[in-house]
Amino acid sequence: MKHVQDTLPPYVKIENGELWLTEDDRENLKISYRIKDIIFSEPSEFQHVMILDSYDFGRMLVLDGVVQTTSIDGHIYNEMISHIPLQLHPAAKKVLIIGGGDCGAAREAAKYPHLEEIHMVEIDEKVVQACKAHLQEVSGNLSDPRVKFIYDDGVAFVKEHENEYDVIIIDSSDPVGPAEALFSRDFYANVRRALKDDGLMVCQSQSPIFHLDILRRTYNNIGELFPHVKVYTATVPTYPGGLWSFTIGSTKPLALPEKATIPADTKYVNEGILKQCFELPQFLKTALEK
Ligand code: SAM
Repeated sequence: MKHVQDTLPPYVKIENGELWLTEDDRENLKISYRIKDIIFSEPSEFQHVMILDSYDFGRMLVLDGVVQTTSIDGHIYNEMISHIPLQLHPAAKKVLIIGGGDCGAAREAAKYPHLEEIHMVEIDEKVVQACKAHLQEVSGNLSDPRVKFIYDDGVAFVKEHENEYDVIIIDSSDPVGPAEALFSRDFYANVRRALKDDGLMVCQSQSPIFHLDILRRTYNNIGELFPHVKVYTATVPTYPGGLWSFTIGSTKPLALPEKATIPADTKYVNEGILKQCFELPQFLKTALEK
């Protein structure tokens, strides 16, 4: 074993000669992954950035000890956060992604030839550089000239833009540290201002199992700012609880086009997923009706 415990962050441990990452950011739940190798590990101004090679999930992006995306299940999340809003707004030309440092959402958006500009505002350049170099299963080595990387705080960025974007995708990490403000009502209000009159936004709104309070607050905040709000879900094995939620706010009624134009090479989203994505389990429907 080439690693020495003293040089590792506390959430990566050598146990009986094996390397283990333990997500221990929750009070009552710890999730551990056996790791083959540490591919990249550096602190940035905002967080500790790691790319780990794991046994069950392949390479994974880990920020401050929390798994963000992996080679094995990253496509589920990235396709759902990108294709659903882009199918709902087939005339979109200009898209903004906030966060999304693994580049997976930008990679999916770039599959739509009719999009003219895709702006990605990520606070931490080190995440983008690490994923482009070491996590190409997710980032796809993105080099589409329509994708413009802007290294800035998404909260400040949206304040300075008005009536500009057709679709805004908020692909944030959990609501701690720099991502906390990305879950606030003030931020969503500025997102609404940054959208064109017929625009729509989507955000990841956490686990319906473990963070129903955050999901309900997000749904209510967005519902106060947009005339149309809807939640959809997908199962992403590396997110606690598996079931994950996304919330859409739209100025126009949310209607899928009669003829879907899903790019040919998706691995998760297809016409059937699209047609039923707004069908919610009963506990979630009941919780959102309250
Ligand atoms: N799919 C992942 C998940 O749900 O766990 C998250 C995707 S991505 C890695 C999240 C990104 O949001 C991180 O790279 C982080 O640096 C970025 N981020 C956090 N706060 C931000 C902010 N205020 N402005 C812009 N980007 C931010």
